[in-house]
Amino acid sequence: MADNEAFDFQISSIINVIKNTDAKNVGLQFPEGFKRRAAGIAHEIEEATGAQIIISGNPCYGACDVDVNLAQKVDILFHFGHAMLDDSSYVKNVYFIEVRSNAKVEDVVNKSVEKLKGLRIGLITTVQHVHKLQLACEILQAHGKICIISKGDAKIAYPGQVLGCNFSSARAELCDEYLYIGSGNFHPMGVALSTGKRVLIADPFVNEVREVETSKLLKQRSAVIGKAMDATLFGIIVCSKPGQERMALALKLQELIRKYSREAKIIIMDLVTPDQLLQFKVDAFVNTACPRIAIDDVGRFNAPMLTPAELEIVLGQKKWENLVLDEITA
Ligand code: SF4
Repeated sequence: MADNEAFDFQISSIINVIKNTDAKNVGLQFPEGFKRRAAGIAHEIEEATGAQIIISGNPCYGACDVDVNLAQKVDILFHFGHAMLDDSSYVKNVYFIEVRSNAKVEDVVNKSVEKLKGLRIGLITTVQHVHKLQLACEILQAHGKICIISKGDAKIAYPGQVLGCNFSSARAELCDEYLYIGSGNFHPMGVALSTGKRVLIADPFVNEVREVETSKLLKQRSAVIGKAMDATLFGIIVCSKPGQERMALALKLQELIRKYSREAKIIIMDLVTPDQLLQFKVDAFVNTACPRIAIDDVGRFNAPMLTPAELEIVLGQKKWENLVLDEITA
């Protein structure tokens, strides 16, 4: 994200909440892309309220990643950049500040019209642009397209919203193709693999429309699967963060691996990184933590890191042609 991009951090609402609740100790948690704004925002809030501000320095990649320790130490924790997940509601003093982008989408959506081939267009985006989907829909309708903005499962707060681990809103209704509004390739790639349909990215930050390309990703995944084919000892990774923890899945995978006369041990940890796993000697890992880890850090682990679906391919339970990205659904 460039520094000159305009985002609404809802500072005045935050100040009101602090004043109305008389909170004295306030925590702020930012995803990686907003951390450089942290000191300035903290200063603004401190000046207006007199509250003691504590900023979380831990990594934060999603709403699954609430800093529970900090939440326990402060009266209120403001978690920026993500919409609340259904299972985040247990943290009672956490306010999710969604941070909408003010980037204009009109030009790039207009530009996409000549590249869209189908009639029924599924509109998808992240929470930053979700308030612009209706406008995008009107533009496409004016060009004779039918727009679909579907509700996802219970993890998805807004129609048309996708997460890096949940593409359910894209699958909800039949579409000819998809238009993703936003930057980055991961979410639209997940939609392309999950639906088998063409996906265009309309990036309002660089005013560019491009088609999602999955071949590089598939090549990488094929190499990872190939390296794990003869593995006899697997390490199944479970993340202890409440929003990512899938112990039940890990236990199922362990049972499956043993059924095929191979062995698996479950490793639970908070932050899953190549460095944290360096000392474990296994033939392959299977990731049940954030699904992005296996993809984003490909090639950086000391053993092939499989997704649960890829493990099934290694064990001969699933065909390669049916490969989709891992999801954490409701
Ligand atoms: S599990 Fe990963 S992709 Fe899903 S919300 Fe958390 S950080 Fe995002």
